[in-house]
Amino acid sequence: MANVATRNSYQNNNIILGIESTAHTLGVAIVSDNPPYILADVRYKYVPQKGGILPREVAQFFSLNAGRAVSEALEQAGLDPRELDAIAVALGPGLGPALRVGATIGRALATHLRIPLIGVNHAIAHLEIARALTGLLDPVFLYVSGGNTTVTSHVGGYYRVFGETLDIALGNALDTFARESGIAPPYVKGGRHAIDYCAENGAFIEELPYTVKGQDVSFSGLLTASLRALKKGYKIEDVCYTFREIAYSSVVEVTERGLAHIGKKQVLTTGGVAASDLLNWKLEKMSEAHNAKFKRIPKRYAGDNGVMIALTGLLSLKYGVGIVEPRRAYIRQRWRLDRVPVPWFPDTIPLWRYTVNA
Ligand code: AMP
Ligand code: MG
Repeated sequence: MANVATRNSYQNNNIILGIESTAHTLGVAIVSDNPPYILADVRYKYVPQKGGILPREVAQFFSLNAGRAVSEALEQAGLDPRELDAIAVALGPGLGPALRVGATIGRALATHLRIPLIGVNHAIAHLEIARALTGLLDPVFLYVSGGNTTVTSHVGGYYRVFGETLDIALGNALDTFARESGIAPPYVKGGRHAIDYCAENGAFIEELPYTVKGQDVSFSGLLTASLRALKKGYKIEDVCYTFREIAYSSVVEVTERGLAHIGKKQVLTTGGVAASDLLNWKLEKMSEAHNAKFKRIPKRYAGDNGVMIALTGLLSLKYGVGIVEPRRAYIRQRWRLDRVPVPWFPDTIPLWRYTVNA
């Protein structure tokens, strides 16, 4: 049984199993608050044969692999299930059918082992793993993934949103463009996106719209105009180059204004699209101009994974938040990150000190 429940009674030496199942990746990881921190990191990634993600197919893939993923994680960590102190599960935001698989495993494990179940917000977990792996503890974040595009920073107990997408997320825009233009799948190969390969010999064209409204960005107009430009006969490499240039510049613009406004001195990227070298290069240049320190999340942890859920669960446990009764552990498909109290901030678990080859 966990030797913790509240902040005051918290003692180190907790081991937590985290489950991620919000979108395409089923992740099961085990994290401890004593080094070595990451004891297991198992991932099963659903890759559609063609087209986009079908929620029901993902859920089926997750269900088929769930038991194996949990046993493999315990085996990697060399642990008996009874040695776990808590279970953390991402309850949202994400795809309903996919979330339900993770929630079901989480409820079953916590109930069976009689240990606390902690509901974790997936977006917050992307932020926390970036802090823990880089040691930039109080940054302005650019969080860009398949389902999210958000500029955020911790102010007054919460991560506040200082800009976001008005329609589709950056990763979704990149992937949809890649699919509809015929350059993908695969969307990502060798750590680079299909659009990067396509843009290699491209040049900027004036045809495509750049949309920043106040602090928010929008990609659906860019997506439509890009596909139309291809039909009109523009070269694919030029459209790829311009699409990528506009999409990345617009998020860097809102990050820059957020940074200037909030007055912090650190910039940190996280989420799947944070694997992009070009995006990080742009952010680095922008940060230099503001004398802010810039870091990117290590590629291996940019995309969805169970470690970030376990880590956030551990921080929640330490500060006595997020514990849910298994029968009330409902999924929340549109759970916004700015609704979640973050009392542990700026505390973290210093993964950066011990994680090699992250
Ligand atoms: P996540 O939802 O956080 O797992 O992130 C997945 C998204 O990251 C997908 O839209 C991917 O296409 C995108 N992504 C992964 N690697 C890269 C890369 N090197 N450059 C740009 N986008 C990427
Ligand atoms: Mg994600």
